[in-house]
Amino acid sequence: MLRRLGADVVEVRKPEELDGLDGLVVPGGESTTFMRLMRLYGLDSAVAAFEGPMLGTCAGMIVLDRNHLGLVDVEVERNAYGRQTSSFESDVQLDGDAVPLRGVFIRAPRVRDAGPGVEVLAELDGEPVLLRDGRFIVASFHPELTGDTRVHELFLRLVEEASAVRA
Ligand code: GLN
Repeated sequence: MLRRLGADVVEVRKPEELDGLDGLVVPGGESTTFMRLMRLYGLDSAVAAFEGPMLGTCAGMIVLDRNHLGLVDVEVERNAYGRQTSSFESDVQLDGDAVPLRGVFIRAPRVRDAGPGVEVLAELDGEPVLLRDGRFIVASFHPELTGDTRVHELFLRLVEEASAVRA
């Protein structure tokens, strides 16, 4: 998705691979596995020290929350929509945009609390599913699994703004 939008993308598995990057995506997957491996390779503290914008989707949102790396002021409950069979797709209402966004929710986390500085960018049934906390964007769904590029465009705008400030 990011490549389609013109970004130069690399994969990060080790702390030193973060050097020189303008932004970071913490993708979906399995947050317990992520946390275990990140600790093992020292990627937890390296990600916590990374100063650029970050996009956390699904398990990535869990990893960034108050109870994990503590970078985003939200509290998230894992697998809160149920088991694998309760995975679903639904339109979510994007703030300030008449066109809904298709959300793919795969054993998705649910936001149970968000601090006062956290902006809700999209909701599903009145609950926040896409949020922004300063340079962080987190989604409980997988924006990369549809053809809709709006979430990634927003993230790349943050990245461009942040690199312009640094330049
Ligand atoms: N259920 C996973 C977890 O708790 C998240 C699933 C996903 O990223 N799609 O980490």
